Amino acid sequence: RSSVEITQEALDRIQALEPKLHSFLCVTPEIALEQARQVDAKIAAGEEINLLAGIPIAVKDNMCTKGITTTCGSKILENFVPPYESTVSQKLIDAGAVILGKTNLDEFAMGSSTENSAYQVTANPWDLERVPGGSSGGSAAAVAAEECVVSLGSDTGGSIRQPASFCGVVGLKPTYGLVSRFGLVAYASSLDQIGPFGRSVEDTAILLGAIAGYDPKDSTSLNVDIPDYAQLLKPNFRPKSTLRIGVIKETFGEGLDSVVETAVTKALDQLQKLGAEIHIISCPRFRYGLPTYYIIAPSEASANLARYDGVKYGFRATDKDNLLSMYTNTRAQGFGAEVKRRIMLGTYALSAGYYDAYYLKAQKVRTLIKEDFDRAFEKVDILVTPTSPTTAFKAGEKTSDPLSMYLSDLMTIPVNLAGLPGLSIPCGFDEQGLPIGMQMISKALREDLLLQVAYAYE
Ligand code: GLN
Repeated sequence: RSSVEITQEALDRIQALEPKLHSFLCVTPEIALEQARQVDAKIAAGEEINLLAGIPIAVKDNMCTKGITTTCGSKILENFVPPYESTVSQKLIDAGAVILGKTNLDEFAMGSSTENSAYQVTANPWDLERVPGGSSGGSAAAVAAEECVVSLGSDTGGSIRQPASFCGVVGLKPTYGLVSRFGLVAYASSLDQIGPFGRSVEDTAILLGAIAGYDPKDSTSLNVDIPDYAQLLKPNFRPKSTLRIGVIKETFGEGLDSVVETAVTKALDQLQKLGAEIHIISCPRFRYGLPTYYIIAPSEASANLARYDGVKYGFRATDKDNLLSMYTNTRAQGFGAEVKRRIMLGTYALSAGYYDAYYLKAQKVRTLIKEDFDRAFEKVDILVTPTSPTTAFKAGEKTSDPLSMYLSDLMTIPVNLAGLPGLSIPCGFDEQGLPIGMQMISKALREDLLLQVAYAYE
């Protein structure tokens, strides 16, 4: 089939499913078909094309796309059309990938269910009454429902891995600095990373290879060689020495659904059958991840979101008497409840007199969490945890209880705090047929190993 035919099929499927799924905030058929036509022309001319050329792909709506609205799921950016392209979307365009549109998310990527979007609630394709996870719920649901082949999400505390787990797809948060953040609307800059979703490990590896790499436009970008991740995947992968897998014992037990525990335990048995040695590892400071994150992330968010003041771009309140009321009315009307909560938390934690007690303390604990990982990786090559303590919950179930919502990211957050790569892979189903995810974590920049082990398991 031609690229145009494949693209048209994806667009038709989006049109058929969107009334129930709501995974896209905007679909751009003309741009997609034009890109597909260019790929077909290249093929007809006998030119060599990239693996991603002609592949329908979706991008989370917090990555800037030139000429295409980028809302971050927020009213404050309702009609914002970026004048520039994010590095990741530029790389996709250059590879000939067909961007179908922008996917729904929790406002400014703050949330775990995609219910904090100012526009719509995305459904979980496995059970429309349930959430797809978040904040990259639209990107995960779109891949799971086959509205696109692969998609991009962003992960600050679990926003790729947790929705991947809830939607039964593969999701990878790369090492901090592997993928450029240029053009990604900042939430918590020291934690944010863009990463791929796919229905298979191979698709995920191909997309990671396309977006990874040094970018002078991002000061935290790592200048390292990028391996050909997809090329390194081998069905009967055997590392040179025995692969040592560590199970983080603190992530099992209290708070973990027994059905999730059973599924991950079974997956570990399978990894053992594949030749891995299983070790029980303790990361005693892991449990401070959540409170540490909820100081650091809101602090950075409060600074990053100061730019939405109604002056430079985006929404501006019409009822205003002076400059100050323009600022306050714009922010009061433009931001949703969760975003306001985070800004208040962050402003408080950073204020004079509290800074040492909260922010500085959190930074120290962050270092201790990283030390736990460093110590663990002296003994093992890969760490395993459940991705999330539960399977997908019902829409509305946790909206009035932020703490229980925050717990959804208990096992993914420490990985961001340490800057490490983490991958979620489907590992079974609960009694209701909802997918369960297993998280694998490696040392920094060992995405190659992470993907190889996931591929052997898959
Ligand atoms: N759910 C977490 C939060 O609300 C993580 C979000 C993310 O990774 N973007 O902050």
